Amino acid sequence: MVKADAYGHGAVAVSRLLQEAGADYLAVSCLDEALELRQNGVSMPILILGHTPPEYTGTLIENGITQTVSALAKAREYSEAAGALGKTLKIHIKLDTGMSRLGYLCAGEYFETGVENLCRTVALPGLDIEGIYTHFAVSDEPGEDCEAYTRAQFKLFTDVIEAVERQGGFRFRIRHCANSGAVVSYPEMALDMVRPGLLLYGYGDNSGRLGLRPCMRLVTTVSTIKFYEPGTSVSYGRRFVTARRTRMGVLAAGYADGLPRLCSNKVSFAVPGGFTAQRGSICMDMCMVDLTDLPQVNVGSEVELFGAENSIYKLSDAAQTIPYELLCAVSKRVPRVYT
Ligand SMILES: *Cc1c(COP(=O)(O)O)cnc(C)c1O
Repeated sequence: MVKADAYGHGAVAVSRLLQEAGADYLAVSCLDEALELRQNGVSMPILILGHTPPEYTGTLIENGITQTVSALAKAREYSEAAGALGKTLKIHIKLDTGMSRLGYLCAGEYFETGVENLCRTVALPGLDIEGIYTHFAVSDEPGEDCEAYTRAQFKLFTDVIEAVERQGGFRFRIRHCANSGAVVSYPEMALDMVRPGLLLYGYGDNSGRLGLRPCMRLVTTVSTIKFYEPGTSVSYGRRFVTARRTRMGVLAAGYADGLPRLCSNKVSFAVPGGFTAQRGSICMDMCMVDLTDLPQVNVGSEVELFGAENSIYKLSDAAQTIPYELLCAVSKRVPRVYT
């Protein structure tokens, strides 16, 4: 999964590495993401998970990009568009087994019509139906309810496939459903291909169990240090006031770099020899930290906002979000350095 610029890690660099490492398939969210990879020398198969307007069918075919089809009406549009070009579009079919997002409806009372629509889809000309997939809603959450829900989604997925293969006289070459949560907790659901995202980058509750480490460190540097007397207010809104004589550092990172403003006054960052508390409102390009008890930290010292030393969960909890959002939020102006 290299959508959203490979979860903020840089899709081109990550995809080149995955291609070299022997991955079979990449998945992105949209056509622009797929084209960025093609234009940068990534030649391996790429699946688009989201919607592409049918008028781009030619672009998909020319660039050898696989498109998700999530409804019969869309299948017909792609089929017609490919037919008009005298070409074939490679597709994967998406089933909605309980995520209630994209995909052919097939749960409950929709089973029969779902299978019927899928049989109609596989009979359409101009489409090379390579694969079929679905997406789990709670495979990464603990608890009996979540496990039952995930197992029910998986059963429905395989039941639909079986019905379509039987009734349509058709065989899907690649069946896939496992996101990170399922790769970790339900290895028996791996089928022909898995789609780990968060896990690929070393994050997730169980990544440690698999011996994986976060590969991204978001770091900045101390740009200035000054002393303030007790009672001095710091940053916009004066939301922090020094209680003691304070050695205050200014970091060259703010919310425009992906450090959520919601973390203001709530988080600490890793510095050589310890952790420094962030003080006052986080600004667009900077934020302040208390270095009073960290005399070894100087101008130019490296500060890890999140990474191996400072868990991203501290920040995502403070920002009332999940690590995914913080990874994706690391902005364009932050240089990605690969080691
Ligand atoms: C994002 C996404 C994934 C990867 O999810 P993770 O939780 O990051 O593993 C897999 N499949 C689909 C359809 C997705 O949109």
